[in-house]
Amino acid sequence: MSFEKLCLHTITTKPWDLQTAVQKYSAAGIGGVSIWRDAAQGFSGGIKAAGEMTRSEGLEIVSYVRGGFFTGLDAATRQVAIDENKKLIDEAAELGAPLIVLVCGATPGQSLFTSREQIAEGLAAVMPHAEAAGVKLGIEPLHPMYADSRSAVSTMAQSNALCDIVDHKNLGITVDVFHVWWDDALEAQIKLTAEKDRLFSFHLCDWKDQPEDMLNDRGLMGEGVIDNRGIRKMVVDAGFKGFDEVEIFSNRYWAMDQDEYLKMITDAYQKHCI
Ligand code: ZN
Repeated sequence: MSFEKLCLHTITTKPWDLQTAVQKYSAAGIGGVSIWRDAAQGFSGGIKAAGEMTRSEGLEIVSYVRGGFFTGLDAATRQVAIDENKKLIDEAAELGAPLIVLVCGATPGQSLFTSREQIAEGLAAVMPHAEAAGVKLGIEPLHPMYADSRSAVSTMAQSNALCDIVDHKNLGITVDVFHVWWDDALEAQIKLTAEKDRLFSFHLCDWKDQPEDMLNDRGLMGEGVIDNRGIRKMVVDAGFKGFDEVEIFSNRYWAMDQDEYLKMITDAYQKHCI
């Protein structure tokens, strides 16, 4: 069985270093990988060599994860974030990743409206750098439980509003089922996003009905309440032709034998997504 349109995030199999992950994914017939910054930085030959090694194993690099965190109580903090994002863009270009996924940021002590204004300003400041490097940026709306300190952008509609304000062809949206599955406007928003050529990437996992941890207890597809197949159909029907990316943070799965876990992932993908 080949999984040409399946992509794994390196964080999903966190115990494996980049080279091991890439070799194991490739042997399983998986076509893509989204590389987290720590995985790329941990590669001994440097970031450029990490990209070359990945491609030589036959995998396509789908995205570099992750940038953003544009908010801050003072201008100096926000400038540090802008500089850091420019650095990330340079790294993505070096790696050969066409896209950076963004967690946009939220700062306790100021309103979400203020945070969203700062996010728009931060994005506007980095877009020319992204364009020059040939890298796209994907806003990933995060579930509102993370609106305290991770992302003031919780919905697809807010993401589209930001894209309208910043208005740059290299800026679009990353749809992650974990964050948006509950949204009754999801199908219409996915359609609109695709019509505007902003549907940049798509992430799969599941929401367990009794998660033990709000960050590191994500489920494998089929294990929870998300209609992964239904949401994937919305994305495909809207014209999306990219990868199906599995991104799971899970203390439970990280503690497992990763070879067994990889087999569970490809089985779950076949059974519950396509
Ligand atoms: Zn995601």
